[in-house]
Amino acid sequence: MPVSGLPPYDSQNIFARILRGEIPCRKVFENEFALAFHDINPQAPVHVLVIPKGPYCSFADFAATAPEADIAGFFRTVGTVAKDLGLEAPGYRMLANMGEHSGQEVPHFHVHLFGGRPLGRMIP
Ligand code: C5P
Repeated sequence: MPVSGLPPYDSQNIFARILRGEIPCRKVFENEFALAFHDINPQAPVHVLVIPKGPYCSFADFAATAPEADIAGFFRTVGTVAKDLGLEAPGYRMLANMGEHSGQEVPHFHVHLFGGRPLGRMIP
């Protein structure tokens, strides 16, 4: 269920189609909670997207409506993916765009992982 005031989930969005295997991706990792794949337009030497398997259009939707086990499983998976990519020791940035002001393009909740070089300060 979408959060009140947000649009309903669009099952034809590009990440839903990637999850269904209709569109290819460069997969990094997959489990019951999440799929991780390389961003098609990388902004850092490592730029991976981690998306939940369920139909959540944004972080607000995911945080408000996903079962707690799925939320925990998803965020643990984000950490595991970062660690397996070798990003943990040098460090990395994780980012989720949420809604119009953030410029969120794809209406399926996703976390960006950036790493592989010093990323500099980013506020906001
Ligand atoms: O957070 P936001 O919605 O703006 O980010 C969407 C991301 O999805 C972009 O970084 C874009 O390059 C990526 N993308 C992708 N594969 C696609 C379509 C978009 O990796 N087929």
